Amino acid sequence: MENATIAAIATPIGRGGIGIVKISGKDAFSIAESIFKKSGAVTSDSGKKREPSFASLKSHRLYHGYIVDEGKGTVLDEVLLSVMVAPRTYTTEDIVEINTHSGPVVLSAILDLVLKKGGKLAEPGEFTKRAYLNGRIDLTQAEAVIDIINSKTEKSLEIAASHIKGGLKKKIETIRGVLLDILVETETAIDFCDDAGDVFNSEKTIEMLERVIIDDLKGLIEKYENAHVLRDGLKMVVVGRPNVGKSSLMNRLIQEDRAIVTPIPGTTRDLIEETLNIHGIPVIIADTAGLHETDDPVEVIGIEKTQEYISDSDLILFMVDASDPLTVEDENIYKIISNKRLILVINKWDLVKDDFKLDIPESWNTLPQIKISALYGRGMSELKDLIANLSIGEYGIEVQNKIIPNLRHKTALERTLQVCVSAVEEIRKETSFEFIAIDIKEAMDSLGEIIGDTAKDDVIDQIFSRFCIGTVSYTHLTLPTN
Ligand code: GDP
Repeated sequence: MENATIAAIATPIGRGGIGIVKISGKDAFSIAESIFKKSGAVTSDSGKKREPSFASLKSHRLYHGYIVDEGKGTVLDEVLLSVMVAPRTYTTEDIVEINTHSGPVVLSAILDLVLKKGGKLAEPGEFTKRAYLNGRIDLTQAEAVIDIINSKTEKSLEIAASHIKGGLKKKIETIRGVLLDILVETETAIDFCDDAGDVFNSEKTIEMLERVIIDDLKGLIEKYENAHVLRDGLKMVVVGRPNVGKSSLMNRLIQEDRAIVTPIPGTTRDLIEETLNIHGIPVIIADTAGLHETDDPVEVIGIEKTQEYISDSDLILFMVDASDPLTVEDENIYKIISNKRLILVINKWDLVKDDFKLDIPESWNTLPQIKISALYGRGMSELKDLIANLSIGEYGIEVQNKIIPNLRHKTALERTLQVCVSAVEEIRKETSFEFIAIDIKEAMDSLGEIIGDTAKDDVIDQIFSRFCIGTVSYTHLTLPTN
C-alpha cells in the first residue's frame, strides 16, 4: 500500500496552543474536503451562499474553518488548514496540515475522522521516508531530520543542519563522480584491450585515487573519529573509591550544565544518565556505583553495571582525594581503567595548601591532571576546558559547514577506502582491468549506501524506525469510541 494516503498527529501529544494533524497522499485533499468547512462562504451567481470548492484553494496558503464530523453533526474544533499541492511539498505528494488546538482528545478525534475517511495511520518516520523514496532528499538528509529532532546542544544542531542542506550528500556524489570517470576508463580499456594503454592512464588513475579519493575518504573518517561526539555525545563516568567526592562533582556538573533534553525512549540504560552541555558537547554522565569489593548481591550488580559502563565510556574522570594519602584501593581502580582515556581529578583541594603536591605513582604522571574542589566549585571551568579539549580538540572551535559522518557513514567510508587502496595495488601490479573495475564498482556501491542509492531495505527500515512520531504517539492514546 505504498500509495496509500497517510495521516498522523505531527506534534507532541499534550495540552498546548497548537497541534497538527498531517495528511499526505493522493487523497489528502478529498479527505480534508470531507471534514473541513471553510469559513466565509462565497455568494454564487444565484445569490445563495455556498461552500467554496476545495480545488479552488491556493497551494501553500492557510485557510480558516471548522472540522466537522458530519456523521454526528458535531464541530470538533476551529482550525487553520494548510493546503500544499504536489510536488513542492515535504513528501512531494499532496499534503494537508490541520492546525487545531492541542489536546490529546481533540487531536485523536480529528485523526480518527481522517482515518475513517480513508487515511492510513502513518508509521514512525513515514513522511520523511516518502520524501526519501520519492527522491526529494537522500538518506543522509533523512538522518539529519532525526538528528535535528534529537540534537542535545547547539553544536550538534549545527552539524545536523549542515547535513540537511545536503553537505555530505554533495561530497559523496563528488567522490562517486570521480570513481565513475575511472570506471568508464577501465571499462573502455576492457573493450579495447589491444589499445588499453591509450585509454587507461595508470599513473593518472593512481594519482586520482590516492590524492583525491583516498585523501578525501580518510579526511571524512578522521572527522568522525574527532568530532562525532558533538552529535552522538561523549560518554563520561566519574570513578574513584568511596567518599572521594564523585557524587558531589556529578551534582555540581548537573546543576551547572544540564542540557535541555527530554528522555528518548530506548536510550535509557539501567543507570540513571544525565546529559550535560560542556562547551557544546553533549556529555552523557551516569550515576554509577563504586568499584570496590563487596559481597552484597545488590551492590555486586551495581558494580558489574559500572564496569560495563566504564568499558563503553569515551572518557573517565578518575577521582582521588587530596586530603587523604592514596590507598591500595585507588591503585586497584586505576588498574581496571588504565586502558581508557582518563583525566586524573584531584578533589578536595580546599583542604590542602595551594602548593601541596599529592604523592602519586610515577605511571600516573602522564595523565592529564586537574585540581578541584567539588564542594566549593573550584577548578570547574578548567576541568570543563580539559574535557572539551580531550574530546574534540580543534573541532570544538567552529563546526559551521563541517560535515561530520555518523557511524553508519563511517563504516561505509572505511569499506570504500579499503577497496580503493586495493584498486591502487591492482593497478600497480597491472592486474586485469576486470578486477580493477570490480573494485571501483564496489567502492561506488559502498558510497551509494551512504546516500541511499544502493542501501538495502533493512538499513533503510532501521533508519526510519528511529523516528518516534506517527503511530507511536497515536497508539498511546485512548480514542473516543463513538
Ligand atoms: P562519593 O562517595 O565519592 O560519591 O563522595 P561524596 O560526593 O558523597 O562525598 C563524600 C564526602 O566528601 C561528603 O561529605 C562531601 O561533602 C565531601 N566532599 C566532596 N567533595 C569535597 C571537596 O571538594 N572538599 C571537601 N572539603 N569535601 C568534599
